[in-house]
Amino acid sequence: MKKISLLGATGSIGLQTLDVIRQHPEEFQLVACSSGRNIDETRKIIQQFKPEAVSVQQADDAKKLKEEFPGVTVMHGEEGLVEIAVYPSSDIVVNAVLGSVGLYPTMQAIEAKKTIAIANKETLVTAGHLVMEAARKNNVSLLPVDSEHSAIFQCLQGEQEKNIDRLVITASGGSFRDRSREDLKGVTVEEALNHPNWSMGAKITIDSATMMNKGLEVIEAHWLFGLPYDKIDVILHRESIIHSMVEFHDSSVMAQLGSPDMRVPIQYALTYPDRLPLKESQRLNLAEIGKLHFEEMDMNRYRMLAFAYEAGKLGGTAPTVLNAANEAAVAAFLQGRATFLQIDELVERSLEHHSVIANPDLETIQWTDVQTRQFVHSLL
Ligand code: NDP
Ligand code: MG
Repeated sequence: MKKISLLGATGSIGLQTLDVIRQHPEEFQLVACSSGRNIDETRKIIQQFKPEAVSVQQADDAKKLKEEFPGVTVMHGEEGLVEIAVYPSSDIVVNAVLGSVGLYPTMQAIEAKKTIAIANKETLVTAGHLVMEAARKNNVSLLPVDSEHSAIFQCLQGEQEKNIDRLVITASGGSFRDRSREDLKGVTVEEALNHPNWSMGAKITIDSATMMNKGLEVIEAHWLFGLPYDKIDVILHRESIIHSMVEFHDSSVMAQLGSPDMRVPIQYALTYPDRLPLKESQRLNLAEIGKLHFEEMDMNRYRMLAFAYEAGKLGGTAPTVLNAANEAAVAAFLQGRATFLQIDELVERSLEHHSVIANPDLETIQWTDVQTRQFVHSLL
């Protein structure tokens, strides 16, 4: 029985993780979880999964839940999030929280020597060097949940690192893949949230539309698999059937395929190196699909992808700025305070404005994150 601690239980990845746990009651047990402000969903999770400990964002929500569930340890805020991440009896932490708020709990979970299934890509983007170094020191495994990284991880089973030539990350192209930049003037939040292949949280759906999601994933892959940026390629693949590929020195290419379903990579991170059946997951029928399409990425059209490569190669605090500016800009777009085209402008201006600090420690990363958000707000 694997005991699971789940950060971000009420989110898109969180709820799908709960579905996987629900399907395998003999294998998995939810011992602790965190959520943000969605108290109704949190209540349902407590009733169904009976975790020992829960953390929510707000103190008054925690107070309410304590009264309703006297047998459950209820915490709140950043401290609560950390308590869930280091929860003593858990074997594995699924980090499905949104944004760089996941960084500190991740570092703490690593110090507590927890295996981590990581969906929270912003944490790896903002401070990948610190996370990977801490993981190495503490001999902790970081198991990818992001579908592309899970695909690469699966393709690498039984392979030797020295034989990898390059990684090829596939991109669906998001909701605006068939529109020119000119056509993006005045697009609404609703249109941007209409992803053709995946149903995900709002922020990552917008990131897919701006192509920042792929940029974040390139940086995430750089840290998880230790390859330089010139060995990480992105290719547009509208069907989202091939989830990513690895090319080896002998020119052989391994790919992982499947119908788009995030529960597959979530479950693989939980069962690795084993596998389990997954009910209701659609089997791949290639004859029915017939054709798979691939196109080169247009770096002028997808400026965010170019910014991400640039920030990744610069290193230091540059990816922190890229990520924090994007988080602030996307939040502003979702709240109607910025237009869609302003998102990449805000990221660009934040990167231009910042003087990169090399090899930043945790404090410098957190300071840069706050400063960048303030800069974006000042521009709005
Ligand atoms: P959602 O927005 O659906 O969920 C985010 C979760 O984090 C919710 O439980 C939310 O709580 C909680 N949360 C948000 N802000 C805070 C905070 N400040 N403090 C504590 N908890 C907080 O996001 P997704 O599930 O879509 O994404 C989660 C992560 O996984 C992201 O990093 C994303 O990039 C990554 N990912 C997601 C994929 C997907 O298919 N959705 C695919 C691959 C990666 P509440 O709702 O209760 O407020
Ligand atoms: Mg992905």
